[in-house]
Amino acid sequence: MALDYSAKVMDHFSNPRNVGEIENPDGLGEAGNPQCGDIMKIYLKVDDKAPQGPIIEDVKFKTFGCASAIASSSMATEMIKGKTVDEAWKMTNVAVAEALDGLPPIKMHCSVLAEEAIHKAINDYRGKRGLEVIPIKEHEHEAV
Ligand SMILES: [Zn+2]
Repeated sequence: MALDYSAKVMDHFSNPRNVGEIENPDGLGEAGNPQCGDIMKIYLKVDDKAPQGPIIEDVKFKTFGCASAIASSSMATEMIKGKTVDEAWKMTNVAVAEALDGLPPIKMHCSVLAEEAIHKAINDYRGKRGLEVIPIKEHEHEAV
């Protein structure tokens, strides 16, 4: 079945932003989903001295997966770069999908990966700074 992807999904899939790794990241998160076999790693570099609170100075990702997973990773990293860690935590997979002008319904779970990997990376950062780790809510993956 051919999936109907938006122009933005195709753009971020063909030309993904922020691909790569950060050496000695301040936060590292990994998420996977068995439905597509997608695996996503998020690397964060955090500036703790910013006046507005810790900000995400740089973010990179490595994703092995389908077009939706790669486009979601690319868009999600664009959306949290330069934001405070608290703002980045609040970014949802729905906001990522909306920024991509939508994902096919059976591919929404791929955007959940980006949110999960970012949450895990932020918790990794929090743990390293001796801060409380925030419980990650389990997403209900849509049954197809
Ligand atoms: Zn996928």
